[in-house]
Amino acid sequence: MRQVHICEVGPRDGLQNAKHLMSTEAKKAWISALAAAGLREIEVGSFVPPKLIPAMADTGEIVRFSRTLQNVKVVALAPNLKGFQRAVEAGAHKVTFPVSASRKHSESNVRMTPEQMVEEVRRCAQLGGAEIEGAVSTAFGCTMQGAVPEDDVVRIAVSLAQFCDAVALADTVGYANPAQVKRVFSRVRREIGGKLEGAHFHNTRGLGLANALAAYEVGVRNFDSSMGGLGGCPFAPGASGNVITEDLVFMFESMGASTGIDLERLFEARAILTEAIPQEPIYGHTPQAGLPKGFRAAA
Ligand SMILES: [Zn+2]
Repeated sequence: MRQVHICEVGPRDGLQNAKHLMSTEAKKAWISALAAAGLREIEVGSFVPPKLIPAMADTGEIVRFSRTLQNVKVVALAPNLKGFQRAVEAGAHKVTFPVSASRKHSESNVRMTPEQMVEEVRRCAQLGGAEIEGAVSTAFGCTMQGAVPEDDVVRIAVSLAQFCDAVALADTVGYANPAQVKRVFSRVRREIGGKLEGAHFHNTRGLGLANALAAYEVGVRNFDSSMGGLGGCPFAPGASGNVITEDLVFMFESMGASTGIDLERLFEARAILTEAIPQEPIYGHTPQAGLPKGFRAAA
C-alpha cells in the first residue's frame, strides 16, 4: 500500500525553468517511463501563453498523450480561466492554480492581486470539468517581497479551501526551513483539515529533503518533486530545482514508507531525461551513489 503519494512535476516545473528545450517526442518517452516506474500523478505541463514560455507550447498534445497512459492522474498548471479552459479541453484530470501569498509576486507573475487570483480560481471551480488544486505559492518567503506573513498564507488557504478539491503549500523559491514548514502546515491544517494535501518544495538552498521530512512528520503525505531536481532557479544561479524525486523516493522507501515507485525503473526514466537534454544540469545523490547494498524497498 502506498503510504506516501508523489506527484512528479519535472515535465512542468522542471522543463519550464530549464535552459534547454525538450522535444515533444522525448517528453512523451520520459512521461511514459515515469509512469512505468510507478508515478501515479504527473504534472505534465502548463497552459501559459506559448510566447511567454516556449517549453510549454506543446502542453495540449502532452496532456492528450498522457491520458492514454494507464493509472496516471494527468495534472496541468493554469494561471487563469483561459488556461483552465484549455486544460479541460485537452482532458487534464486535475488543474493546479498557483495563488501567490506574496502580493508583489502575484502582481508580477499573473498580474492579479492574491484576492483577484482567488476569485479567478473560484470561477474555474464553478465551471467544473477537472479536479482543482489551489497551490499557495511563495508560502514560505518571496524573492521580491522577502518575508511572507503566515497570516496571509492561512487566509488564502482558507479562501481556496471553500471551493478547491485540495490545497497545497509551495516553497516556490526555496526559502523554507523545517521548523517553519512544521509551523505553517500545522496552522493551515488546523483551519482547513484534510483539504490541505500537498507540499511543494524547492531545493535551492539544499533543504528540500529536510523540509519534506518535516512536512511528513506533521502528517503531510502528498509531495511534489522533480526528477533530477530539473530546472534550477532563475533567482539563484547554480541551484537545483524542485526536491529531487529519486532522493525523495529513496528517503521514504528506506524509512519504510511505501511510495509505490520502483527506484531501478526510476533510474531508467532518468536516463531518458539526461539523453533528451544532455547539456542540462541534473542532480541527485541516490542515482549517483547507487542503492546501498542490501537495500529493500518498503513493503
Ligand atoms: Zn515550483
